[in-house]
Parts: sequence; C-alpha cells; structure tokens
Amino acid sequence: MLDTKLLKNSGYLVFQVLWEVFYPTLVTFNTISMSVDGKLEKFWITELTRPAFEDWLEHEEHPVVIIGIGSIEQHGPHLPLGMDSLAVKDIIHMVASRSNSVCVHPCWPGYSPHHMGFRGTITFSWETLMGVMMDTIGSLAYHGVKRFIIVNGHGGNTQIMNLVSQQAKREYDVMVFVPTGPAGTDLAKKKADRSKRYWDVHSGTNETGTALGLFPELVEMWRVPEDWEPSNSINPDVKAFLNPDREDYEMVSQLFRASSQPDTDDFTSDGIYGMNSPLDADPDEARAGLEERVEFMVEFIRRWKEIPTPPAFQ
Ligand SMILES: [Zn+2]
Repeated sequence: MLDTKLLKNSGYLVFQVLWEVFYPTLVTFNTISMSVDGKLEKFWITELTRPAFEDWLEHEEHPVVIIGIGSIEQHGPHLPLGMDSLAVKDIIHMVASRSNSVCVHPCWPGYSPHHMGFRGTITFSWETLMGVMMDTIGSLAYHGVKRFIIVNGHGGNTQIMNLVSQQAKREYDVMVFVPTGPAGTDLAKKKADRSKRYWDVHSGTNETGTALGLFPELVEMWRVPEDWEPSNSINPDVKAFLNPDREDYEMVSQLFRASSQPDTDDFTSDGIYGMNSPLDADPDEARAGLEERVEFMVEFIRRWKEIPTPPAFQ
C-alpha cells in the first residue's frame, strides 16, 4: 500500500527545493520593463510603476490620457450589470495600446437614476460623478498631462461628460475632449438606422452584439425567450414616430424625445428599451464596428499630437 502521507511530503520537498533554487534566479533576472524611452508595454495607469509612468511622461511630447466611463445598471435579463463599463474598459485599452497612451478607468458606476427601478443598479449622483472625473483630470494635470480624452459608454453620462470637458479646461488649463464617431461608414450608418428605427439604444440588438463580441462569457442569452416580444409600453401613436423614412422625421423624432418618460420602469418591464430583439445580435458586426471606432480614436490621437499645445493651456 502506498504511503500517501510520505508521497505528499516528498512532493512538497521537491517543490520546496525547486522553489529555493529557481526563485532567486527569477528575481535576479526579472527584466520586466513597462516603459523604454517612453514606449509603453503596459497601458493601465494602475499597472504602471511610477518610474515607468515618469518615463512615458518625459519622453512623449504630447502625452494623452484616455479616461473611460460607463455604468453599473440593469441591462435587461441577459447582459451583465457592468455592461457599459466592461465595454469601455476594453475599448480604451485597445486605443491606448495602439497610440502609446495611458488609460484610466476611475470608477465603475455612472449616472443611472433612471434605472433604479431595477435591482442591481448603482448610481452616482451627478455631483459625485463630476467630482470623480474632475479630481482624476485635476490630479494628472498636476503631474503635467495636458491632453485628455473621455470615452463614454453610457448615454446617461453624456451631459455630465460634456460639462466635465468644459470645466476641466477652465480649472486646470488642460485640453479635454469627448470624441464621437465615425458616423459616416456603411456599418455606422446601418447601426445608427437600427438605433433610430427600433429605438435600439439599450440592451437590444446593437448592445447585445457588443457584449457577445467582447465578453460572451458574461451573457445569459437563454434568459431571452425565443418568442421575445418588446415589453415596451409606449403609446403606439408616439412609437410610429420612430421611422427615419418619414418626411417629418426631424420633427417627430424630437416629439418622441420630448414625450419620453423619465424612468426605465415607466415604459419597459424587462429592461430592454427597443423594439428589435437581442436574439438578432451579431457579434462579428459589433466587433467590426468597435474596430472602426477604436481606429478612429487612434487616428484622432495621432493627428492631435501633431498640433502644438495652444498658449492658453501652457
Ligand atoms: Zn448599456
């Protein structure tokens, strides 16, 4: 019969000998370098050492920091609560790694009071969210960063991010911009049309595609019934305004917005806004759309770095 205790002990002994022999070698020959002459190997500010961050700051003529902001809020029965923040994290890391920028995700929640009727939502007040953004920008401005991009993954944050962009310029003498687009590509037009026609703005075909394209392991598609029907209870006469082919679309689309109720649970019982099914989501299309957006921002940064810092920001 095998003496299992002896076997365990001898196994541990072998491990210990190997560890003691090789660990010092590992430490001595650790050649990890996160920034060489300003060229980054790691892009999250949380993963950089201080000297690596300083190396980047000193070598980059116009260092750019990308700040991502999303939300923690209900996303229908099938998408993760962190959907917007998870997606924005992936996007800003892609942009940073292709533009030698540093990316920051200062907080998970955003401004989502309209989703509080559903459990799991965490909302910051607008003052808290604005404070988090202003303090993040203010801190890095103090260390000499002059250029910031805000990438926003949640519609409810839009107005606050635009205000942050204006206020931070005034308070910290830095450039802050929220880039949008590209809007003109075939794919972008297709997705925008879907968004207008079916009010596909939250947990519908478009957003489910993004989730399936980026983190399919966090999506429970089985929770969407095969015979899914919109739970949306908006007045059918107002719903008829959602038709970009109408001649009076400019007018009626604004009437639609003017009549919209404040909270998600005012008009939907399953948390999905629109009229098209999450089951139609296409992860390949979503990935292609994200690639366009990422490349647009990379090119934006490349060209932005060619423009000298205007005197008011110096
Ligand atoms: Zn979302």
